[in-house]
Amino acid sequence: MSKVKIQAIRGMNDVLPSQTPHWQYLEQHIRQLMAAYAYQEIRFPVLEQTQLFKRSIGDATDIVEKEMYTFEDRNGDSLSLRPEGTASCVRAAEQHGLLYNQIQKLWYMGPMYRHERPQKGRYRQFHQFGIEAFGMSASTIEAEVILLSAALWQKLGLGQYLSLEINNLGTSANRSAYGEALRSYLLKFKDKLDEDSQRRLDANVLRVLDSKSADTQLILEKAPILEDFIDAESQAEFEQLLSILSAAGIKYKRNSRLVRGLDYYNGMVFEWTTEELGAQATVCAGGRYDGLVKQLGGGDTPAVGFAMGMERVLLMLEELGKIPAAVGQNVDIFMAIIGGENQPKGLFLAEEIRSALPALRVLTHCGAGKYNSQLKRAFASGATCVLVLEDEEIKLKMLDADGQADVLDSQGIISKLKTIFK
Ligand code: ATP
Ligand code: MG
Repeated sequence: MSKVKIQAIRGMNDVLPSQTPHWQYLEQHIRQLMAAYAYQEIRFPVLEQTQLFKRSIGDATDIVEKEMYTFEDRNGDSLSLRPEGTASCVRAAEQHGLLYNQIQKLWYMGPMYRHERPQKGRYRQFHQFGIEAFGMSASTIEAEVILLSAALWQKLGLGQYLSLEINNLGTSANRSAYGEALRSYLLKFKDKLDEDSQRRLDANVLRVLDSKSADTQLILEKAPILEDFIDAESQAEFEQLLSILSAAGIKYKRNSRLVRGLDYYNGMVFEWTTEELGAQATVCAGGRYDGLVKQLGGGDTPAVGFAMGMERVLLMLEELGKIPAAVGQNVDIFMAIIGGENQPKGLFLAEEIRSALPALRVLTHCGAGKYNSQLKRAFASGATCVLVLEDEEIKLKMLDADGQADVLDSQGIISKLKTIFK
């Protein structure tokens, strides 16, 4: 048998105990935010029929073309690990009748899978927090979706490091008329375009606008502009959204090249980007997708949503030092137990403390160990104080520099702890 140790799959990260508190910190903020806006959580499987993603995200998108983890299961069905949440959310909501003539404000959080080249801020298993709001066509829901993302940045102390870019894709008719015009313009320069863009000319011409190639970007400088193809009504709605954002004090930059990689968007699209993370600059992206529910077999249902890359938010929090020092501190009391015969007594005392003071976090030393080595562990745990149980005596020692010890009987301990941890 091979002795080589098995390693995790490339691009799929373990989250170790030193880091889980950071995740919990972000997750708690997200849960509080969603409660404050009265959105409801939805959970759906990580595996779906491959067809779901092909039909929604689009055959000619990066995700479906080259990033999905797709395989046949034992029945020969083609399944894919979810590369994003919107398609699954629509599938689940539609399947369970949540969308017919109803308004829904939903959110989800969890792992997504894309076979990309792993690098900082880009992984093969990564996590998204996303929201999807169904049944509302007004600009106010678009504004709310953006306002709530801005509120999260404020709460996390990231407000000044993120900027909002926004664009209007118009109706799907506007979008396809523009696509035609862009295609005929680009066909004249076909040989000079990068390889990906040449392929996208037929399949997904708007994506050419996203090209990273300098030559292609140069050609795009004189290309038709999306704005010129947008009808008056759609433009007026977009202006209304912008005026709400301005009134709310949200700064934005209009970017007529912003089209987003997924096929299902129409109307407004937006991205929050940062200069703190190098090439992986987009932290949160979303927009309106009024056609998707119908495309997946439901009725006409206006919809708006976004997805946020949680690893990228965490990288920002960590690199900018925005995680409060108390996060990760998870022990209040260390229970040192000297002498084997005292072990059960120590455990029971810890139980007693936990039921009298349920908010306190009590870490017990289990097993043998000299006083000094247990004290060392107590310091390393970050506890505020240590209780030392030795023979009939219980000493309480504060773990600050002077560490003075009080000798207590078991009756006195609870009231003493109450005064320490007010
Ligand atoms: P990018 O241009 O960075 O590839 P995308 O357009 O593919 O992003 P979306 O599908 O819009 O991304 O996903 C929403 C967010 O999820 C992104 O803005 C990003 O923060 C995050 N994200 C996407 N792919 C990854 C990944 N492979 N690893 C980590 N985060 C990711
Ligand atoms: Mg991508």
